[in-house]
Amino acid sequence: MKTVSVIVDLPTRQTNQPFTYAIPDDLLDFDLLGHRVRVPFGRRFLMGYVVAVDQKPAGDFQLKTIESIVDKQPILNHEMLALSDWLARYVFSYRVQVIQAMLPNAFKPRYLKGLKIVGDVSKELRQTIFLGNDEIEFLAKNYDPQQTAMINELIRQGKIVQTTTIEKKNKAKTVKVLSAKLSAGELSELLKSRRRSEAQKKLLIFLADHENVFFQSKELADILDISVSTIATAEKNNWLEKSQMPLTRNPVKNISVKKTKAVKLTADQQSVFDQLLASITKGENKTFLLEGITGSGKTEVYLQLIEKTIAEGKTALLLVPEIALTPQMIRRVKARFLDSVALIHSGLSDGQRLDQWEEIRDGKIKIVIGTRSAVFSPLSNIGLIIIDEEHETNYKQEDNPRYHARDVALWRAKYHKAVTLLGSATPSLESRARAQKGLFQLLTMKHRAVSGAVLPKVSIVDMREVWQRQHADSDFSPELLDAIKQRQLNHEQSILLLNRRGFSSFVMCRNCGYVPHCPNCNVSLTLHMDSHSLNCHYCGYEEAIPNTCPVCGSHQIRYVGTGTEKVAAKLNSLITGIKLVRLDQDTTRKKGSLEKILSDFAARKYDVLLGTQMVAKGLDFPDVTLVGAINADVGLNLPDYRSGEKTFELLTQVAGRAGRDQKTGEVIIQSFNPDNYAIKLAADQNYEAFYKSEMLLRHLADYPPYFYTIQIAVSGPDQFLTSQAIDQVSAFIRPQLDPKTIVLGPTPKAIAKLRNRYYFQIILKYKADQNLENTLTSLQTDFAEKLSKNIYLSIDRDPVSFI
Ligand code: ADP
Ligand code: ZN
Ligand code: ZN
Repeated sequence: MKTVSVIVDLPTRQTNQPFTYAIPDDLLDFDLLGHRVRVPFGRRFLMGYVVAVDQKPAGDFQLKTIESIVDKQPILNHEMLALSDWLARYVFSYRVQVIQAMLPNAFKPRYLKGLKIVGDVSKELRQTIFLGNDEIEFLAKNYDPQQTAMINELIRQGKIVQTTTIEKKNKAKTVKVLSAKLSAGELSELLKSRRRSEAQKKLLIFLADHENVFFQSKELADILDISVSTIATAEKNNWLEKSQMPLTRNPVKNISVKKTKAVKLTADQQSVFDQLLASITKGENKTFLLEGITGSGKTEVYLQLIEKTIAEGKTALLLVPEIALTPQMIRRVKARFLDSVALIHSGLSDGQRLDQWEEIRDGKIKIVIGTRSAVFSPLSNIGLIIIDEEHETNYKQEDNPRYHARDVALWRAKYHKAVTLLGSATPSLESRARAQKGLFQLLTMKHRAVSGAVLPKVSIVDMREVWQRQHADSDFSPELLDAIKQRQLNHEQSILLLNRRGFSSFVMCRNCGYVPHCPNCNVSLTLHMDSHSLNCHYCGYEEAIPNTCPVCGSHQIRYVGTGTEKVAAKLNSLITGIKLVRLDQDTTRKKGSLEKILSDFAARKYDVLLGTQMVAKGLDFPDVTLVGAINADVGLNLPDYRSGEKTFELLTQVAGRAGRDQKTGEVIIQSFNPDNYAIKLAADQNYEAFYKSEMLLRHLADYPPYFYTIQIAVSGPDQFLTSQAIDQVSAFIRPQLDPKTIVLGPTPKAIAKLRNRYYFQIILKYKADQNLENTLTSLQTDFAEKLSKNIYLSIDRDPVSFI
């Protein structure tokens, strides 16, 4: 007997296994693998995914039967089914959560509750509750207690029943289109009439030349430069016929670019290109780490390799770490490859994302560019996967499923026998160490690509001295201020980085030291001058800025720390006529604002681009000759073993934005720790030296890449019960793990309270532990089941931060 295994759309421990269903007769000859299906589950219907088709001996047990299929085509192919199976186990997540993460949002079903009349009910009830229908959507909040009581009574009597329907959101969107309805004869007849307006004539002539072509009315009006009402009239006169057409919502189509051709590679680039090409042509499953200094022309190498991959009849995937970098990258790629490119990131609408996904699945797309989740693009026959800025922690998803795009990429490359290229000026220590061991092949590019372009001159300004000299806590050293003024005079541009990682501006009472904290989270509130409020960046809590200290009553409330807003205001007051634009989360919230800021800056509308981490990465502006790091070292003192690596990366990357063309660049790093190794080596732009020093520290402290880490966290609304739970976790795992595995904690997390929940953690450090997978899997299942309902347990493999 043919049956199917279905993963139902319900992320719980009890449903984290396939359920067997019988197949209805009309679907017996149909290949159901990878399909979404509607299945009976308990007393309701659920959406589910067919993960296997099996042969079961006809037994005496009674199987439930699939009710229907949801889509015409399967939405998970063999590769995606195998990937979801592996990944769910690898990241300790429910399989359905992984499947949902792999698919566009539009595939997430919505369950609508309803009521249906099945017996005799009064006419009045039919009118008041059912509005004359047999079945309605039911939202409890729309009914008063009396009505609710009546409904419940009728349900009890079996006269009405509750129903659920699954709403499908991935409907193709259609638009109204118009086409000529007249024969050539009728058209010329109409044209002869002297009563025709100019606009009508234009339209008729156009229609005569465009038989069987479909236009939207606005589009037609734009082409002919006539009004929409002329077109409406034509429609009324039956000159035009209307119909519905599916609309493809494509985010790439409207990006206009000038076509570019491959440029002659530099010697550095050529050698890298040759080695990769050899592997691509051979169809080798091999991973390369490209360590190329900023501006060495990594992107050009990517483009030429993609070109070769496509010429081989294969497809390519290019990942960038964040949305901020997609506009630049898509423009460069589209300029080379025009319309065979798709773009995937979380800033797209559900509809755009769905349409891009379907075009990729249907094989219309050869190249996919995107952020983390694009690693799941349903490309077939992948030849090359590139991860640009591979060191970026954004490639790791911070909530369930906690996957790293690099791990997924390597899995897929193996599946397709494809080449993976990890590129960075500052590779992650993990990747660099794997290259050391020979697991990845290391390639380097040590020179800038543009002839004459060299790495910028870097100087460190000791801010302790500046503050002593000026007797003030100023954000700008005279050196940096002069350099900015100089650029303004020379019509060159500057980029200023304000490292906000770890802290931003807050208020403090100078009298007693009181700092307002979020009542829900264990963090200080951040000052926002535009809304004149104090906000919590974690939960959104907001309150007014106090005039007096609530503790001591003093009026000495002062702002501490540095935010982009405050620095922008200061710079405006210090340099007259400076044109400055901010780039941070607050100024890029609106759709399209990021693109606008970057294109305005590229068009030289501003002297200075001031921003957070966002300005440090990937940007390529030839007129930028100065980069300033305003507070280089705020990230150094965080309770995180990666703080040195993050600081080094950030400074090296931002320094790399200067002098990318012929004009030499200058970088000024303002620091309170000018002797710190990470700051000094970033100033030297010396990744290899940093790698050696940092590896030594990691070795001494038993941290990655020498050890793997796993973070187990427990959270709950009650501090005592939550701390009890983490103790139980500790007692559960310790006896099962290999004695060589190091168990740190339990301790409160660095942010011990968030959104009114308390957080505790245990960190595991291990090299090889045969018992690890089993222990953690049973922790996640058998153990977690016994936890009280509002206590959550999470397991994070290779966490990017312990904070
Ligand atoms: P990276 O990604 O390594 O930081 P980019 O790919 O952005 O570097 O290249 C830096 C600059 O060098 C860009 O302006 C790019 O157009 C230019 N460039 C790249 N390759 C070449 C080449 N072979 N010849 C001339 N210019 C090049
Ligand atoms: Zn006070
Ligand atoms: Zn909060």
